[in-house]
Amino acid sequence: MAEKPPAQIRVRRHPERGHYDAETVYPILDAGAVCHVGFIRDGHPVVLPTLHVRVDDHLYLHGAVASGLLKAMAKGVPVCVTVTELDGLVLARSVYNHSLNYRSVVVFGQAYEVTHPDEKLRALRSLVEKVQPGRWADARQPNATELRATRVVAIRIESASAKVRSGPPIDEAEDMDLPVWAGVIPVRAVRGEPEPDPALPAGVEIPPYIASGSV
Ligand SMILES: Cc1cc2nc3c(=O)[nH]c(=O)nc-3n(C[C@H](O)[C@H](O)[C@H](O)COP(=O)(O)OP(=O)(O)OC[C@H]3O[C@@H](n4cnc5c(N)ncnc54)[C@H](O)[C@@H]3O)c2cc1C
Repeated sequence: MAEKPPAQIRVRRHPERGHYDAETVYPILDAGAVCHVGFIRDGHPVVLPTLHVRVDDHLYLHGAVASGLLKAMAKGVPVCVTVTELDGLVLARSVYNHSLNYRSVVVFGQAYEVTHPDEKLRALRSLVEKVQPGRWADARQPNATELRATRVVAIRIESASAKVRSGPPIDEAEDMDLPVWAGVIPVRAVRGEPEPDPALPAGVEIPPYIASGSV
């Protein structure tokens, strides 16, 4: 990634919250269960949520060959991909200073279609393993028809911005003695108890690897 952020990605509002290094950006991309992809379709902006995975300095997305998002990305339209992790509700003494604690990333780039069979399969495996580590080796492998019906696109992460807010509310000095509770309410996404498919054949137990994975 670029050492000095280009003007397009420089965080201007609260610049002290801006980061541009892979050590900050990559963990946020990895923690995000979904991304949002913005692009111009037929002259209008559209933003669509989808699954993503990062492998080294590439983001991979996949979908049906018929997906308009994937079609547009395969043609190389400019895109803006964002990932947001909400960490807390920041309740200030004044209404004005309420805020959120978060980690977010914005990536600008141009996608390309992944056509090499090895890279395509590696990307699909990474997408599945991101959602549920251990799943790829356990589930039935994709057949030729399924692979043909699936498009994979990639974006090289050349430069990206992260914005991170953490810590307590920032109130005005004259409000600090008000008898109003202030602080942070942490927010976490958690995995619930697995709910077995009622159609499972008898004797198929929950595999041990299901205890872990992203939300
Ligand atoms: C969960 C969440 C809630 C938010 N709520 C609000 C809100 O209610 N009101 C509000 O004004 N802002 C909110 N923000 C911050 C918002 O994302 C913008 O940073 C802010 O509005 C400044 O916009 P701007 O166009 O002036 O950004 P600028 O600082 O001018 O943006 C320049 C460049 O900085 C980078 N950048 C800007 N914002 C982000 C970001 N969040 N993450 C990564 N890179 C970024 C991008 O590369 C962008 O192109 C929220 C952010 C998050 C993650």
